[in-house]
Amino acid sequence: MQTCNYCAKVCPMEIGISGSFTAMNYLTLYGDLKVAKEQGSWLVGMHGRKKASECVKCGQCEEVCPQHIKIRDILEKIASTIG
Ligand code: SF4
Repeated sequence: MQTCNYCAKVCPMEIGISGSFTAMNYLTLYGDLKVAKEQGSWLVGMHGRKKASECVKCGQCEEVCPQHIKIRDILEKIASTIG
């Protein structure tokens, strides 16, 4: 999947935003929590990024998002489901 990743460039916490979103897709599209967790581990942690639960909700990512995605809300949901 192509991602613009503007959010990642401004995040002071180095949250793996796009990787977390991709992982979450495995849960929302396929209902597969196990694969979602595995993908999150690979796309976020193994790529040196921090987990959704470490978001401090500063909002800088949303200010630069060209699609006006509610990133903080989605990360909160990700943190409470796939961790
Ligand atoms: S709201 Fe969270 S994900 Fe967005 S820039 Fe701030 S720390 Fe990073």
